[in-house]
Amino acid sequence: MTECTYCGCEVEAHDPVVVFESAPDAVDARDGSEFAFCNWGCLSAYSTESDVATGTTCNWTPEP
Ligand SMILES: [Zn+2]
Repeated sequence: MTECTYCGCEVEAHDPVVVFESAPDAVDARDGSEFAFCNWGCLSAYSTESDVATGTTCNWTPEP
């Protein structure tokens, strides 16, 4: 069983979403940490509450 990073529930009981965070200097893309969430709701709540997304953006530009 895998516990949700956000709420601690069993992710298999829901509709799990897994986030893979690679180390910046990783040679192998699989060389990093995995975070499992029940669903997008837990992932969204986790990123909002823990500030993990603050200051992280890629070069996406919205349509004018
Ligand atoms: Zn959860």
